[in-house]
Amino acid sequence: MSENIDKLTELESRITSVPGIEDRSTLENLKKELLGKTGTFQQLQKEMKSIPKDDRADFGQKLNDLKNRAAEALENRFRELADLLGEDVSDLDYTLPGKKPVPGRLHLLTKTIDKILGVFRDQGFHIVEGPDIEDEWHNFEALRMTADHPARDTQDSFYLAKNRLLKTHTSPMQIRYMENYPVPIQMVAPGYCFRRDPFTSRHSPTFTQIEALMIDEGITFAHLKAVLSEFVRGFFGRDTRTRFRPDYFPFVEPGCEIAISCPFCKGNGCRVCSMSGWIEILGAGMVHPGVLENCKIDSKKYTGFAFGMGIERPAMIRYGIDDIRHFYENDFRFLGQF
Ligand SMILES: [Zn+2]
Repeated sequence: MSENIDKLTELESRITSVPGIEDRSTLENLKKELLGKTGTFQQLQKEMKSIPKDDRADFGQKLNDLKNRAAEALENRFRELADLLGEDVSDLDYTLPGKKPVPGRLHLLTKTIDKILGVFRDQGFHIVEGPDIEDEWHNFEALRMTADHPARDTQDSFYLAKNRLLKTHTSPMQIRYMENYPVPIQMVAPGYCFRRDPFTSRHSPTFTQIEALMIDEGITFAHLKAVLSEFVRGFFGRDTRTRFRPDYFPFVEPGCEIAISCPFCKGNGCRVCSMSGWIEILGAGMVHPGVLENCKIDSKKYTGFAFGMGIERPAMIRYGIDDIRHFYENDFRFLGQF
């Protein structure tokens, strides 16, 4: 019995020392030592069986009182220390595990753009960016899309004011670049585009494009084909094939639409490529002489090619994503996968 009384006396002196403890880790260690699952109070409670019956109730009572005093003294000291540090700990539970910091990561579109730009950087292209708000000259007119041009109807635009709109494609950067840099020109420009499109699995009113432009003496369609084929192999894989078909864009002549062999079925036909074996990914062509003249470049001396490509579609193909909205809804369950 006296041995157990000694233990209680020792416990009492530990509790009395609590208000003098100056740092939180000592306090936490003491809390664990006294009140933890294998702490002193638990052990003494187990030893109660060995105490003579007559003394047991009295010992139990004292033990309980001490336990309450210990809990109160520790709690008070935690608060005092927190007050000294200016923390609000009214609802703080010191037994909870700590918070693990979650590192940030790049958005899938950013990663895709970086990868595409890398392929063009390797081929010597200068990477530039332009404004999101454009005027009609750069967005339409210099690209041969005059006020009555049918192409302007097909691009329903977000106008902010008269002659001020959110750019509907990245092609205005061709014009800005030609106005500001001398020939020879070899540039790529990534950027957001904005159109009055519905927000569906295939369309988004905001999307991302990359524009490329190359101008010099003697640039031909062969250069366009070589640069684009190299990009397709670099981005989609070395065994990917390209298909060029005539198409119309007002700012190029001739214009073409470029498709890649379907990476999913290797050209045999599947759901992704609508059984055709091909997926259209971009529009391109030789820069129209009128566009060069609009930018005061001698179209008799210089020729060039340009192309513009949406980023979401290649990213969807590459990563097997079936809905364009995932890129813009900021759902961590989606974003965390890449
Ligand atoms: Zn396919």
